[in-house]
Order: sequence, then structure tokens, then C-alpha cells
Amino acid sequence: MTIRKILTEPDPFLRQKSSNVEEVNDEVRSLMDDMLETMYDAPGIGLAAIQIGIPKRIIVIDLSKKDEKKNPLYFVNPEILDKSNDDASYEEGCLSVPNQFAEISRPDTCTVKFLDYNGKEKILEAKGLLATCIQHEMDHLEGILFIDYLSKLKKSMIIKKLSKQKKTLERIVV
Ligand code: ZN
Repeated sequence: MTIRKILTEPDPFLRQKSSNVEEVNDEVRSLMDDMLETMYDAPGIGLAAIQIGIPKRIIVIDLSKKDEKKNPLYFVNPEILDKSNDDASYEEGCLSVPNQFAEISRPDTCTVKFLDYNGKEKILEAKGLLATCIQHEMDHLEGILFIDYLSKLKKSMIIKKLSKQKKTLERIVV
């Protein structure tokens, strides 16, 4: 397993739409292993393949707490079948939008169809934090970031801040 570099906003690659995976084979599984490793290292609770520069419809999620047994979830080609009318709000962050948080409202439950780690088709009814996390990660597959739900002013302030951080970071690397 390899820890990969996580792309951060503003990076035009993050705005790309991801394409379907044709077959869940060893190559895809190895990518999912890397994604999980990268997510645990960050640390974060969800990661989409596009965040490490691979425009494929794959997401990994693990909501287990620090001292709990790890509980990785893998979603290949996820599709939302149904969403609730009731919303839930969470203070969201994103590994591709470092150190920025905002309260975002999304449907409280969602039913998602996907292929698992072994390529088996599954249907899951997700609630609360898991439902929010799935929807956040699935947005990445469409090139959408949580800051897109904020006001224009707030969003541009965050992007400005991140651009500045990036410049400083690049200077150190060089
Ligand atoms: Zn994210």
C-alpha cells in the first residue's frame, strides 16, 4: 500500500467528472488499498479517487472512531437511488480543502447502490453521518466541492486563502 498525494483546491483536476469503473479487478483493489491508506494517514473519514488524481468513480469511507476496530467501506460506481426530504446539517471539511469548515445541509438519509471491494452489487440505506459522507464523496465524482454550496463571497475567500497557502507551501518545497 502506498500513501498518495492528495490534490487540493484550487486544482482544475478536482473539477473533472469521474468515469465508471468497468471491472473491479486487482488493479482497482490495489487503488482502493492506496486510497484507504492515504485517507487514514491524512487523517480523514472519506476519500474519492479523483482526490489522488484518478478520475474513476471510486470512494472509500471509514467512520470508526480512534480506538475502535477499523471499518472500511468501499463504493465503486455508486448511484443514489433515493434521498429523504428531511435534511441534516454537519460542519463539513474536506482533505482537498484543508483547514476549512462550513455547515452544509444535505438529505438525512440516502439509499445507494454500488459495487463492493469484490465487485459484488450492494444496496445500502445510509443515515446521518454516513449519508452525509457518501453524498460529500459522490459530489467529488461530479467535480463538486462542499464550498460550492456556500455564498460566492465565502467561497472566493476560502479559495483565495488556499491559493496563498499553496504558494507558501510551494516555496518551501522548492
Ligand atoms: Zn472531500
